[in-house]
Amino acid sequence: SKRIVVKVGTSTLMYSNGAINLQQMEKLSFVLSDLRNSGKEVILVSSGAIGVGLARLNLTKRPVTIPEQQAIAAVGQTELMSLYSQFFYHYGHQIGQVLLTKDVVDFPVSRQNTINTFEQLLAKKIIPIVNENDTVSVEELDHLTRFGDNDTLSAIVLELTQADLLIMLSDIDGFYDKNPSTHPDAKRFDTIHAISEETLSLAGDSSTRFGTGGMITKLHAAQIVLEANKSMVLADGSDVTVLFRILEGKEEGTLFT
Ligand code: ADP
Repeated sequence: SKRIVVKVGTSTLMYSNGAINLQQMEKLSFVLSDLRNSGKEVILVSSGAIGVGLARLNLTKRPVTIPEQQAIAAVGQTELMSLYSQFFYHYGHQIGQVLLTKDVVDFPVSRQNTINTFEQLLAKKIIPIVNENDTVSVEELDHLTRFGDNDTLSAIVLELTQADLLIMLSDIDGFYDKNPSTHPDAKRFDTIHAISEETLSLAGDSSTRFGTGGMITKLHAAQIVLEANKSMVLADGSDVTVLFRILEGKEEGTLFT
């Protein structure tokens, strides 16, 4: 696979105490830079705007109102990109920020503009870093503008860029037959070829502080990926060098193909 989309969740980028995990961000920037050096085209879909915003503004919990959350995301997104910019620069790479909303990729003209931007960034060996544009898209009920979560967004980005593989880094090392955080006897699937109603019924909620989607949104993303005849790997993001091993063809996490 030459073109890959990597999605990282907030739990990969933040410590559970709410502080930014700089070690992890730097390692991720190193690994993606090295993959770019080896000739792979990499696109990063990064969550973390609200988490980083909270840390930056010395807040301990998410405010209740949507506009307050949006303001925090606006601060956090800037800080997040500033950190990425410095880490990637250290490893010799330039990044470009792409903020998307659902209406943008649903409307043909703006969809094509988005595709053109991705192609141009990749042609110039610039690493696109994608997130949902929280300023314009609000809450789950806003079907017009909101993807809902970065799991779905990362699958849409795979479609837009016609990438071959989506690697989703999470706080869990794959998809299990029941929620492993509440069922110690849960068993991990190595490979999944189709997402049925039964598959969806095995997915539970997120149990982490920052996690938004839980397993269900990852399966929805896998559905989009499989429909596009592409593959997705769900793997443990606590060691981001797992990306090297996945691209060497080693079995890691759960492969949807
Ligand atoms: P991220 O922040 O990386 O997007 P989430 O916290 O949203 O991750 O989702 C991953 C979590 O989903 C796991 O840590 C686990 O607690 C939960 N989960 C629920 N059902 C399952 C399942 N069937 N297999 C694996 N994880 C599951």
